[in-house]
Amino acid sequence: MIDISIRLRDELVAAAAGSADEVCGLLLGRGERVERAPPCRNVAATPAVRFELDPAALLAAHRAARAGGPAVLGHYHSHPSGDARPSPRDAADAVPDGSLWLIVAGGEVTAWRAIEDGVLHGRFEPVKMRDGGCEGGGDPPQGGDAPRAE
Ligand SMILES: [Zn+2]
Repeated sequence: MIDISIRLRDELVAAAAGSADEVCGLLLGRGERVERAPPCRNVAATPAVRFELDPAALLAAHRAARAGGPAVLGHYHSHPSGDARPSPRDAADAVPDGSLWLIVAGGEVTAWRAIEDGVLHGRFEPVKMRDGGCEGGGDPPQGGDAPRAE
């Protein structure tokens, strides 16, 4: 389970819809909460079908995290094909380090974790999303009572 606001998801969908190439960016936050999703340049040689995060942006984000900034939880990219699941190529590129992968396609966002022996392509495990964007001073979410993903 991760917290990511509907508003942030809408921003990603809008960015993806406005591009014929795959768009990509970082997921920054703390714990299970995605607070920001700054876009990055897609430096892939064939950006219509692949993505590669600008390594300079990635380095800068990790440096900022070490200096006390938000952690780099993972990244997102879009699929202009409209299929909001990681592709076999994504699986081949993914390091099974537990990082978060968001796929934006067809007007929706899906979330995955890159792990060993994932259910999709042997690499990805689906992750549930909830809207952590409410700012009403409600009760903090109680951890531990959510059903575990199988
Ligand atoms: Zn992909």
